[in-house]
Formats: sequence, structure tokens, C-alpha cells
Amino acid sequence: MPLEVIASIPAVRDRVAEARRASRRIGLVPTMGALHAGHTRLIERARAECDVVIVSIFVNPLQFDRPEDLQKYPRSLQSDVEVCSALGVDIVFAPSVAEMYPAPLDCVVDVGRVAEHLCGRFRPGHFRGVATVVMKLLQIAQPDRAYFGEKDAQQLAVIRRMVADLNVPVEIVPVPTVREADGLALSSRNQRLLPGERRVATVLYEALQVARAQVVEGVRDAANIRQAAKDVVDREPAVRLEYLEIVDPREMQPVERIEGPVIAAGAIWVGATRLIDNVICVPP
Ligand code: AMP
Repeated sequence: MPLEVIASIPAVRDRVAEARRASRRIGLVPTMGALHAGHTRLIERARAECDVVIVSIFVNPLQFDRPEDLQKYPRSLQSDVEVCSALGVDIVFAPSVAEMYPAPLDCVVDVGRVAEHLCGRFRPGHFRGVATVVMKLLQIAQPDRAYFGEKDAQQLAVIRRMVADLNVPVEIVPVPTVREADGLALSSRNQRLLPGERRVATVLYEALQVARAQVVEGVRDAANIRQAAKDVVDREPAVRLEYLEIVDPREMQPVERIEGPVIAAGAIWVGATRLIDNVICVPP
């Protein structure tokens, strides 16, 4: 079946209803477009596990806390559609803002503790916007499985929590982070980095690896681990650290002592670009 690009919610619903009547397993990969090899990994996984693969491409204004970030966000629908076609995607759902938000919403998904730290602390309303749009996409596409990258660990935790708390009948499938050869996590925002910025952007992953090495060596005091990782970022003057935290993988709460697997997560600014990354750290 050739790929269909659909902008209307009723049209997607018709296709979904047809697939469900035929007991076909539906997989959804929500994205904001500007597709790269990280997205590709999610789509390939969905293709391998589902009968009907829907990729949504929607730059969701509700989750942007800075207007200039929304305005500068890369958009490349035509080439994204080509990528999806080559990967055997069945449907690209690419709605307009007016299609998704015909009127200001009166009902939203509010996120509690799991959004308190990390990005949630620095991007007010971000996870409310994410949870709300993902809830809408899940209602529209009614997938059996939805695929999310571990690159956005807090987002993954928020979605898992939402699905559990609100009894959404979908399986959330996490997909490991895809990186460049030098360790930089792929991100649509990497496109914005100038050559000099691109060279120093790897410092966050280096810092997170220092944290991981300490946990693996058996260091238990999270404050020490955090400091060692922060020192790595501080040695790079062209980079500003926004946060670097050691948290538990489910609730995203800072831990004091390492008693089990933790996530080391950070955000940096390189020039005008904000980058995030995280690694899972497992003690001996
Ligand atoms: P975005 O288009 O940035 O909203 O990302 C769409 C999905 O792709 C999210 O579930 C992300 O976590 C995931 N994703 C983004 N970058 C990567 C990456 N480098 N590796 C794996 N998944 C990713």
C-alpha cells in the first residue's frame, strides 16, 4: 500500500476504524518532524511490530515555552514524507494547528510530580503541552502501541504515568537513544548548531558518562557524582549548564544515595540552542 499523507482528523479516524475492524495492530510514532536517524529507529521498530504504522508530524505550539523556539523549529514535511515512504510507513498524519486546536482548549492533561524536576523546572507548561497533545494523538490514532525515544527520558516517564493514571489502552514502547559517532544524541535542534558549537556540544554526553562511570564503580553519594559531571561541563566555556541531575527512572525524582538504577540527565545551552541528554546508570 502506498503511503497516505492525511491532514484531517476524520480521515485518519476512518482509516483507523477500517484497520481495527480487520483486527490489524496499529503502531503510532508521534514526532515533530525534521526526521533524523533517531526517529527512523522508532519507525523501524513500529514497522517490525505492527500491521499499520502511523507517523504523526505536528509541531505542537502548546509545548513550546519560548515563542522564538517554536518559530525557529525546523520544518521539512516533504522530505519527512519521503523518509516515511522509504521506511514503509502507512500513514503520515500531518494536521494543521487549526485542525488540532480549532479553539483554545478548556481541558488539558495536567502533570504532577513527574514533571517537577529536570526540564519541567525550566520549561513551564511544557509537559502539560506534551501530555495533552499525546493524549489527543492517542485518541485520534487509537494505536495498540506507541513508540517514544529514551532520549527524552522525562517525556517518556510523563507519558507512561499518564497512560497508567488515565487507563489509556496502549502499550508504550521505549526506544534507546541514537547517537552520532562522537556521542552527540541526534536531535532536530542539532541542525541549528554552528560548526564551532557542534564541536563542543558533545560535552554533555561526556559529563553524563563520567556520572555513569562513577555509579558503575560503586560511588553512592549522588551529590559527588553530580559535581564530577558538572565539572566536565564547566570546563567548556562556550557551554552553559542548565541542569544536571541524578534521578530515579520512573518518578524522575532526585536521589541522594544510589541504591538501584538511576538516570543522569542534563540540559545545556550552546549559543542559542538548548540540548538535552540522559544516560541510564546501573550500580554494581
Ligand atoms: P521529536 O520529533 O523531537 O518530538 O521526537 C519524536 C520522538 O523521537 C520522541 O519520542 C523522541 O524521544 C524520539 N527521539 C528524538 N531523538 C531521538 C534519538 N536521538 N534517539 C531515539 N529517539 C529519539
